[in-house]
Amino acid sequence: MKDPQNSSVVYKSYLNLEDHLSKEFRYVIITDKNVEKLYAKRLKKKLAEKGFNVILISIVAAEESKNRETKHLIENQMTQKNLGKDTCIIGMGGGVVLDLSGFVAATYCRGVPFLSIPTTLLAMVDASIGGKTAVNAEGLKNFIGTYYPAELILIDFSFLKTLSEIEMKNGFAEIIKYGLIASNDLFKKIEKIDLKDLARLKKIIRESILIKQKIVFQDPFEQGLRHILNFGHTIGHVLESYFEYKISHGLAVALGMAFESYLSFILGYLSEAEFNKILQMLMAFDYPVELFKKIPFNAIIKGLKMDKKSLKNAPRFVLLKKIGKTVIKNNKYCHMVDIKYLRKTYEHF
Ligand code: ADP
Ligand code: ZN
Repeated sequence: MKDPQNSSVVYKSYLNLEDHLSKEFRYVIITDKNVEKLYAKRLKKKLAEKGFNVILISIVAAEESKNRETKHLIENQMTQKNLGKDTCIIGMGGGVVLDLSGFVAATYCRGVPFLSIPTTLLAMVDASIGGKTAVNAEGLKNFIGTYYPAELILIDFSFLKTLSEIEMKNGFAEIIKYGLIASNDLFKKIEKIDLKDLARLKKIIRESILIKQKIVFQDPFEQGLRHILNFGHTIGHVLESYFEYKISHGLAVALGMAFESYLSFILGYLSEAEFNKILQMLMAFDYPVELFKKIPFNAIIKGLKMDKKSLKNAPRFVLLKKIGKTVIKNNKYCHMVDIKYLRKTYEHF
């Protein structure tokens, strides 16, 4: 297994990717139909002009593409082109493309180099960092996959210019998460941010990436500390799957953070004042907390059983002690919670 610490992040135009390529490799750009039109076609053309051997494989842009069948289809296209161990995969797109293309890289010829070019805010601050690759299976999110870090992550802020406001908010949920679990200072900066203020946003993105890298560096294979990156995701994943991925990941995580913050409050860890501050921020971004009314409590309990942090089907939660700090008890970063507190939290929303 590759060590997730070995990725390096560079900040530059994607059209300068060639600085990091070698003609000893053949390249496969894996992208989706939207990103193909916007950017990937241009990258392919540029690399071909410079004499690189490069093909482009484009998938349908949707969470539904993140499955084992699409992985097969990509692999078949690659074998039909007689691509072998001297292949390097360039994943270019949002979380769907990166999780899937990273997984293809991890198993193709038992592993070929992987370069990651995140084009969404969410993928820049989250999916591209930390080496997790996966596909969804049997209705379960990211259930089949492995750790396979990219050798290089290229961040080009200009991609953000074509992202919709919904997509920006989708990514911002993860940034809020970093503030809540690791940095009160970042949280304060987010309180004042205007999503159109690109200069400030760039700083916040860099800071978020550093926070995630630092956590992953200390616990690459999620045996302890890395669990805290799951804050908001325990409930978030249940919502995503219940609403059949029709709500975005970020939105689900934002609602999950509201739920898990309240849970932290009623369990006596987080102060009410800080809970209110968190809720206020989530409301300011228009994350629709009222969605909880559309999911029955039993569906939440059922969904929690298959969470990857669950032990013998008993869910465990990352809890907040205060903004910027999570609860650590008996050296554990996620904790079992009595069902009565889950019900009470559910009834609050
Ligand atoms: P994430 O999981 O990172 O939110 P997805 O892979 O689900 O991302 O992509 C979300 C949508 O945004 C997809 O339809 C994708 O084609 C599109 N997309 C990705 N990057 C960009 C971009 N820079 N500009 C516009 N649309 C983009
Ligand atoms: Zn996430």
